[in-house]
Amino acid sequence: MKPNITTIPITDLFSETEGCPICRMYRMLEEQYTEYITGAAMMAPDVRVQTNKTGFCHRHFSMMVNNGPRLSNALLLQTHIDELRKKVFPKKLTDAPDKKMLAAIRENAHTCYVCDRIERDILHLLSTVYVQFGQDEAFREQYKAQDFICLDHYALVMSSFNKKAMDKKSAEAFFEATNALSKGYMDTLYDDVTHFTTMFDYRNAGGDYKNSKDAIERSVRFLTSYPVDENLK
Ligand SMILES: [Zn+2]
Ligand SMILES: [Zn+2]
Repeated sequence: MKPNITTIPITDLFSETEGCPICRMYRMLEEQYTEYITGAAMMAPDVRVQTNKTGFCHRHFSMMVNNGPRLSNALLLQTHIDELRKKVFPKKLTDAPDKKMLAAIRENAHTCYVCDRIERDILHLLSTVYVQFGQDEAFREQYKAQDFICLDHYALVMSSFNKKAMDKKSAEAFFEATNALSKGYMDTLYDDVTHFTTMFDYRNAGGDYKNSKDAIERSVRFLTSYPVDENLK
């Protein structure tokens, strides 16, 4: 099925509180899109035209390869590789590639069909979040109850904020809640990381770690939007 953001229940997403809600939104969309690309979209020529051009980032290639049918992945790669090789190499092996070819390689490393789609969808979803925050007291409480909003998504939520979505008083409440979820959480991280370092002082031997034991992992997750990748060694 083609991902349809209008059916995505914002309140369901916010009824959970673990981690960053925008990361959850992102995760849900990338699961839907990667499944769609190697599934129903195989029959959609317009999508193939796009994916041949942009390709995918490492994360989304990985999701497609790990979850999608082998044949779909091979077919997608076949046409993408073919389009790309014609664009980025000189005709004769004895020729140097021109600037345009090299630029196309650099560009290809940063383009991803799934990332592009999600970026657009997230903005639509956020516009619903703003409206809901302004109108729905229960949703406002759900929003405030989140663990945190990661740093990158703090920038996203604040930069795409639309003044027309709510009245001035609600906007103040929105900024207060969002700042608390990011700045407030970051302050806690600082304290926890600091406390953790003091536990290495011999004078604190046997002392209480409090909430600092996973401060490193939580900090990486907040700063990068992703948990530490245990496969990378
Ligand atoms: Zn996030
Ligand atoms: Zn991607």
